[in-house]
Amino acid sequence: MAAFGKLSTSRLPPLPTIREIIKLFRLQAAKQLSQNFLLDLRLTDKIVRKAGNLTNAYVYEVGPGPGGITRSILNADVTELLVVEKDTRFIPGLQMLSDAAPGKLRIVHGDVLTFKVEKAFSESLKRPWEDDPPNVHIIGNLPFSVSTPLIIKWLENISCRDGPFVYGRTQMTLTFQKEVAERLAANTGSKQRSRLSVMAQYLCNVRHIFTIPGQAFVPKPEVDVGVVHFTPLVQPKIEQPFKLVEKVVQNVFQFRRKYCHRGLGMLFPEAQRLESTGRLLELADVDPTLRPSQLSISHFKSLCDVYRKMCDEDPQLFAYNFRELLKRRKSKNEEKEEDDAENYRL
Ligand code: SAM
Repeated sequence: MAAFGKLSTSRLPPLPTIREIIKLFRLQAAKQLSQNFLLDLRLTDKIVRKAGNLTNAYVYEVGPGPGGITRSILNADVTELLVVEKDTRFIPGLQMLSDAAPGKLRIVHGDVLTFKVEKAFSESLKRPWEDDPPNVHIIGNLPFSVSTPLIIKWLENISCRDGPFVYGRTQMTLTFQKEVAERLAANTGSKQRSRLSVMAQYLCNVRHIFTIPGQAFVPKPEVDVGVVHFTPLVQPKIEQPFKLVEKVVQNVFQFRRKYCHRGLGMLFPEAQRLESTGRLLELADVDPTLRPSQLSISHFKSLCDVYRKMCDEDPQLFAYNFRELLKRRKSKNEEKEEDDAENYRL
């Protein structure tokens, strides 16, 4: 081991640096898989510190790659670290870390989009939802094409208290393209306010903790990277099914520069659009001329609650999907319809 230069960690025994591991196992980043590695252990330590107190924790790391964040997690006195990596080339390097931390690192060759972490840790770690978060943490620096669909899936899991949230209010520390991180944490009225802001913030306390400049990664990605911490809320700010909230939020933001009544109108079939939208806005006590970005979570709560009542009164309403309708018409070469929809004014 002495041949491998400087020590890279304090608690793990002497190990090759991440750069050396990459050379040793010929781990060229696969550009088509958006692999960008973090080699600076001060940065990986910072990500792990910001995840919270990991003493005796059970950690699920998604996409460990050559193992920079993995080392920092192992150095944080965790009881167990489970890593799930899709690319087999990384397994030998991770195995080397496992040998250095006997009994602590469990390596799974698999896909985080399908891996069932709810079965991976002991039942005894489960905490009631209302308690403090369990000693289970999720940490990861994944490709952006994976982290965004994954967070949407996990937000739905939070609303159902299943998946990684069978243990309770499992905390997550994840990286995103900086602009996505800003959207996740954006306040009402800000330029970055979007669908993601509302979907994440009605279920979680969301903090964009810091930004890592692109040049810290090898190879350097086109964009900077934001590290975001999520703690699921004891009481979601909107108490309606995830799919209903998603539908309302998606409709509102589909015309993000228009008044909010425009997108909300698309929740209703054309024949009743004007009347139903007016009723929804009136009962929810929301000003129709607010822009989507100006709507607070409590505005969305009122809109979702009233829309839910309207769906209960008219069981066909929830199935009505303006966007789907457009797609079907388009596929029948009726693109004119889309122009009509775009030009539509309430
Ligand atoms: N976490 C490492 C780091 O910070 O240096 C690697 C980051 S690299 C951007 C993303 C890693 O996630 C790669 O190792 C890639 O193979 C892995 N990965 C990508 N998609 C995955 C998936 N669906 N399931 C598991 N791992 C995945």
